[in-house]
Amino acid sequence: MTRIQNTADSLTAKGTLYVVSAPSGAGKTSLLKAVLAQMPELQLSISHTTRQQRPGETNGVDYHFVSVDEFQHMLEKKNFLEHAEVFGNYYGTSRVWLESQLEQGHDVILEIDWQGARQVRELMPECRSIFILPPSKDELLNRLTGRGQDSDEVIQSRMAAANREIKHYDEYDYIVINDDFEHACKELAAIFTARRLRRESQQVRQQALLNDLLQ
Ligand code: GDP
Ligand code: ADP
Ligand code: 5GP
Repeated sequence: MTRIQNTADSLTAKGTLYVVSAPSGAGKTSLLKAVLAQMPELQLSISHTTRQQRPGETNGVDYHFVSVDEFQHMLEKKNFLEHAEVFGNYYGTSRVWLESQLEQGHDVILEIDWQGARQVRELMPECRSIFILPPSKDELLNRLTGRGQDSDEVIQSRMAAANREIKHYDEYDYIVINDDFEHACKELAAIFTARRLRRESQQVRQQALLNDLLQ
């Protein structure tokens, strides 16, 4: 009788950490929202930020909105796995929640900029990273404008920053072009699904079935 080995490796249900970056306005928040609605087993990390809350955003849902003082305090207490200054505001990923989710075998997504992605790759080389691109510069500007939540000045600075961000595309494992929204959703979901179907993950998740079939 062949049984699945009960080695530490085959039984460790560590979740996968995904890092998703994109120039502001490329559609990463909308895409992830749509994909997460279909894949409830994925968890989205909620960052802390010192940026002003936008209309329609909810504290504790979209971000944890904090003051610069609170952010600095968390930084001093080493509460952040990574942090970065983006467009003049601070953003950071809280360490405790993330680590406990991964330990419990949940897959977690970080929606962070390229500077944060670099820090996370250093700390957790097994993470998978995805870069989302808009189909053109014109369309990026349309989306930033159409979102209607940033001033002209902020939009201009985000357009200028887009070019600098996109230069880092080659540090990522996967590239998704967000032209047709539904198509991009399917591509993103395919990345998450393929990873869950790896033998190492399935061996843990399907242990009972495998043991039964192998008896
Ligand atoms: P949006 O991307 O235009 O919706 O603007 P946001 O204000 O939501 O995000 C601004 C930037 O901060 C983006 O590049 C995000 O990926 C990045 N960001 C958000 N949360 C985090 C975080 O926890 N850590 C890091 N390093 N970057 C973050
Ligand atoms: P990000 O989180 O990358 O800054 P958002 O998800 O806020 O981007 O998307 C920016 C704007 O573009 C939103 O108004 C969103 O509805 C729109 N958008 C996103 N993806 C598409 C798409 N494929 N086609 C057209 N508009 C899109
Ligand atoms: P926005 O202010 O438009 O929501 O986000 C602006 C940028 O900040 C986006 O590129 C977003 O990915 C990034 N960002 C949001 N949260 C974090 C975070 O926790 N860490 C890092 N490094 N970047 C973040």
